[in-house]
Amino acid sequence: MENKVFKCQMCGECCKGEGGIIVTLREIERMAKYLSLTPSDFMEKFICKTPDGKLSLAVKKDGRCVFFDTEKKGCIVHPVKPDICLAWPFFKGNLEDEYSFLMAKEYCPGILRHTKFDEFKKYGYFFLKKHNLLKDEENGPNALKISVSGQCE
Ligand code: SF4
Ligand code: SF4
Repeated sequence: MENKVFKCQMCGECCKGEGGIIVTLREIERMAKYLSLTPSDFMEKFICKTPDGKLSLAVKKDGRCVFFDTEKKGCIVHPVKPDICLAWPFFKGNLEDEYSFLMAKEYCPGILRHTKFDEFKKYGYFFLKKHNLLKDEENGPNALKISVSGQCE
């Protein structure tokens, strides 16, 4: 199916730290491998623990994710980024609720302006299925055997 609904403009709005990007062990392992680090070293450098004990990508002083390259305007770990980053803006809420879709459209300039809710939903589910993003995953520290000392701010 052709994508006629979305083209990322690399503005970095969705890479801001609000709520953090919660990651799984599988995602940590693939990002660590991509950066030629051990999972342990990766976690030491780039992961912090949220107040409710989840593991999150650290954020920089400007509020953006530690992996957002402000100069080049892009994600340093793009080919292996977390599933939640890959899935945006096709989050289930945006595919099921038109109001959420309109809010996402306001927020994300990558959702093409002419896009109607029905076509967004149709392509979104196609995209999620294609990338195997429809299943829920276990998350949080219990998925990990490595401890994290840094707290998210
Ligand atoms: S907010 Fe949209 S256009 Fe901007 S970086 Fe994120 S996905 Fe791309
Ligand atoms: S991992 Fe990449 S896409 Fe995801 S929030 Fe960080 S910079 Fe953005």
